[in-house]
Amino acid sequence: MADFTKPYDPQKVENEIYKKWLESGYFNPDNLPVAKSYPSAGGLKAKSYVIMLPPPNVTGSLHMGHALNATIQDILIRKKRMEGYKTLWLPGTDHAGIATQNVVEKKFKKEGISRHDLGREKFLEKVWEWKEEYGNKILDQLKRIGASCDWSRTRFTMDDNYRKAVEEAFLHYYKKGLIYQGERVINWCKRCQTSLSDLELEHEEEKGKLYFIKYPIVKNSKLQDYIIVATTRPETMLGDTAVAVNPNDERYKDLVGKKLILPIVNREIPIISDDAIEKEFGTGAVKVTPNHSIIDSEIADRHNLPRVTIINAYGKMTDDAGKYFAGLSTQDAREKVVAELEKQNLIEKIEERAHRVAKCYRCASVIEPQPSKQWFLKMNELAEKTKKAIEDGNVRFNNERWKKISLDWLSSIRDWCISRQIWWGHRLPVWFCQNQTGISNSQFLISKQFKNKNLFDEHSVVSIKQPKECPFCDGCQMKQSEDVLDTWFSSALWPFATLGWPDKETKDLKEFYPTQVLSTARDIINLWVLRMIFSSIEFMDGQMPFAKVIIHPTVLAKSGQRMSKSLGTGVDPLDLIEKYGADATRFGLIYQMMGNQDMKFEESHLLAGKKFANKLWNISRFVLQKTGDNFYYELPKENDPKSGNYDALDGHEGDSLLKKLSMTIEYANKDIDNFDFGQALHTIYDFVWHDFADKYIEESKSKDTNDVKIVLSHTLINILKLLHPFMPFITEEIWSELPIKDKKLLIVSNWSNN
Ligand SMILES: [Zn+2]
Ligand SMILES: [Zn+2]
Repeated sequence: MADFTKPYDPQKVENEIYKKWLESGYFNPDNLPVAKSYPSAGGLKAKSYVIMLPPPNVTGSLHMGHALNATIQDILIRKKRMEGYKTLWLPGTDHAGIATQNVVEKKFKKEGISRHDLGREKFLEKVWEWKEEYGNKILDQLKRIGASCDWSRTRFTMDDNYRKAVEEAFLHYYKKGLIYQGERVINWCKRCQTSLSDLELEHEEEKGKLYFIKYPIVKNSKLQDYIIVATTRPETMLGDTAVAVNPNDERYKDLVGKKLILPIVNREIPIISDDAIEKEFGTGAVKVTPNHSIIDSEIADRHNLPRVTIINAYGKMTDDAGKYFAGLSTQDAREKVVAELEKQNLIEKIEERAHRVAKCYRCASVIEPQPSKQWFLKMNELAEKTKKAIEDGNVRFNNERWKKISLDWLSSIRDWCISRQIWWGHRLPVWFCQNQTGISNSQFLISKQFKNKNLFDEHSVVSIKQPKECPFCDGCQMKQSEDVLDTWFSSALWPFATLGWPDKETKDLKEFYPTQVLSTARDIINLWVLRMIFSSIEFMDGQMPFAKVIIHPTVLAKSGQRMSKSLGTGVDPLDLIEKYGADATRFGLIYQMMGNQDMKFEESHLLAGKKFANKLWNISRFVLQKTGDNFYYELPKENDPKSGNYDALDGHEGDSLLKKLSMTIEYANKDIDNFDFGQALHTIYDFVWHDFADKYIEESKSKDTNDVKIVLSHTLINILKLLHPFMPFITEEIWSELPIKDKKLLIVSNWSNN
């Protein structure tokens, strides 16, 4: 029995209520009353409503963004569950390749052990152990906030069946000729020793220098003696193979096609014109270093320029950089190059300049673009299909802004580098012959281009199982590629791989695909949302993975700064739950979610949530006292909201309150369905506090008729229903105390509709 004479104590109630829900089994759609009334064998199918939880990293712990996003999803799920949908909210975690590997590596580093000391197999064993121990922490934290996920369907992006999905996807793309191996200049982290996609970079503004270097023109004419190029990285000039200008730049018109002498190296290099060059940057003449800049590499492709690799995978200068520089760090090489240029009087000037530096998102090392052999997924066709789906409105974003960002990205897309040189992840289903020289997959091998014919090229076979026989030699044991797939390659399959795909006949896939809503953060629109769309086009016969996408506001610190542990601006949602309770935390977050603006987080709203919970508690005490021991409230029948006790009241007692209630129900329904959760909560809050508590309850203190009892109960019951998605714990607790005939748990009671 709840003790209504004491203030509401969330700490005491929340764990108990959550246990009750778990015991009821209602998080699992197969146990819902609706599943029982629509036996699938009878041909009748209950309407399903499905949300896939964006799988947090196994290394993750709950932050405010998660808390907000979980609350949003839980609101939708709880409302639909009460509306009688067969509701599934499927949880799980992502193996998070680089992030997890780094965490475990760090742990062993403290003991003086590197992953190479352990070896691949042993190291992976350790990562699995770590995952078993810590990997579900964030899911447990979601339980604290009240998430009603079906934990019996929890998935992990590296569990056995998920592995099958990933292999099948790779094979499918490969057969279609969309996966190829190529040499590309890629973003390379010399610390993590892996390639990174554009989306895995963080750009930081840094103070640096802009060097203006003179490149002498090969003597021939009355033209000027040299061209000046500006660069922030003079050491890379050792790998230059051209200087490029914009074709419309009048200053250089007569020089295009002429030759320059590359200082120090004394190599002749051409002056070329290319649209990619901005006239406004520096002097308008730009040095081209094909093997150490992605943009320069593309220019080199267009102009057939030679390539020189002068920096290796560890950020050291190579032999091709020349004997004075070989073995130096890039920083040391920079000083030496500048000193040499100064000696030769080839530095025009040096300016202080802030510029953006690309860094590894995991370890913050400066990115060192490198030529390397990687696997790519061709994007043109997939991007076009995705664009069309979005333009046709098959997938809708909650704001036009996100649609535009998506279309822009898809329009300027590059092929997706899907291989990573780390150990933790899905290994590529590619097998190499061991008896051919020069064809290992060591990433820095400059080799001939491969063709994609008949599932194998000269050196490798794509196969899920180890091939019994090597097609290239007599009897070698083919060796699997050391590379693993980009983590996002597997998470792109999340909406259907979690339901049993590649088996297309599973009950879950038939019943729960496609999903209805995806709710996620804006920074993974490109990394994840769009990739799920084209994966579904490829693997689910064009059926979109979700109809609607909610990009939720970013939760900022009160000052407007990014929330971050290292900046000291972070707030831990678990501390808030401890302090205010989960309901008040949910209330506080949603109450300040107005419109699509980012949210400057104010803790005062959580305090307001706590007070509101107490108000509700006191209201309930009053109603229970008023109705007394012998009163029972009869709920309206399933298909007739006007039946039950309420029927008798029409047009009599409490008319204006009941009209207001009816309007509140109407507006709240509409707002939740439009994803205006903050607005819905404001409406309910105002009704409860002002119309019900301040007015009707005050007035009814002196009345004692049966009608008053019915109005009080009817109103409270509807308030509990409306508030349940927002504040699930206290509403369920109060519900359990109400004198209602044929009562189910609130979580599966009928939703409030007019
Ligand atoms: Zn790194
Ligand atoms: Zn072989």
